[in-house]
Amino acid sequence: MTPAELSRRIKAEALDLGFDLVGIARAEAVDEADLLAEWLSRGRHGTMRWMESWREKRVDPRLLVDGCRSVVSVGLLYFRPERDAPQPRGTKVARYAWGEDYHRVLKDKLHALLARGRALDPAFDGRAFTDSGPVMERWWAERAGLGWRGKNTLLLNQRLGSFLFLGELLVRAELDPDAAGVDHCGTCTRCIEACPTGAIVAPRELDARRCISYWTIEHRGELSPEEEESVGAWLFGCDICQDVCPWNRDAPETAEERFRPRAAAWPSSLDDLLTMSDEEFDARFGESAIERTRRGGLARNAATVAGNTGGGSMEALETATADADPIVAAAARHALARRERAAIPSRTAS
Ligand code: SF4
Ligand code: SF4
Repeated sequence: MTPAELSRRIKAEALDLGFDLVGIARAEAVDEADLLAEWLSRGRHGTMRWMESWREKRVDPRLLVDGCRSVVSVGLLYFRPERDAPQPRGTKVARYAWGEDYHRVLKDKLHALLARGRALDPAFDGRAFTDSGPVMERWWAERAGLGWRGKNTLLLNQRLGSFLFLGELLVRAELDPDAAGVDHCGTCTRCIEACPTGAIVAPRELDARRCISYWTIEHRGELSPEEEESVGAWLFGCDICQDVCPWNRDAPETAEERFRPRAAAWPSSLDDLLTMSDEEFDARFGESAIERTRRGGLARNAATVAGNTGGGSMEALETATADADPIVAAAARHALARRERAAIPSRTAS
């Protein structure tokens, strides 16, 4: 089969498996190794030390898959409107965590695509990645023509917006590369202006240490008083720099059933999140991206949100000050102090 024919068939299979976008790039060294090194040297990845690992592999897929000649980049839409949000009223959760864990969904589809491709041509052999290895996913998605990297650092597509999960197949087959995506941000700076913490320090440059998403998901310790207040109502992640993007205004809803919001997994109140056991957390969130924070991280965030919004009861916060996890206990103490200072009345229902 010629590279052109195999490329056409692989793209058809990807769409048949439910991916919304698919493109192909030639496997070569990423031309932003210096930018990555500088970003890391400035410490903008915070405590995400894993980003320092596998530097050489991160900028060259041929070191991840011996004989790799092509990168197949895919995108899967996860957008759902705000009315579908599954978490307790008065709190916020980033859309990507509303449904089943995207790693599971994309890995299933990517492995199916690899198997179908291998059946077409044995050279279509390699490895699948989705936010799970040293692969610069957005660079490859742009290079494969899926869209462009916006000033908010995310991959944007003119038709679908930015609420997209990305994945890649690094394969040994020779395929026909697509033209790289073209920047359509223009003079817009809405995401930079809307970010409440100034985390987008320059177009396409994020300082994770200032980002609500990093604080509520990746950061394991206590938050500073300023960080706690900036978290606002966000229990997990933050969508502000996507919500304000004009390219998301007409984003279609995802057709992926496994991203259906898991309303039954969430308790109805912040009190329940504050006092949840490890076992209950695992039962509720074991199959969702929320699992990443572990019980302690979500309880810490729940305490922080309760302190900021007045959601949940003072009694639940007081109980949480005796939590076995000292980080949860500290967040609960801080929350009580903030509520007392602000004289925020207690709302037990949310
Ligand atoms: S996720 Fe939120 S805090 Fe982070 S850069 Fe975007 S708007 Fe700013
Ligand atoms: S808000 Fe504007 S600048 Fe930011 S990513 Fe969207 S189009 Fe680009």
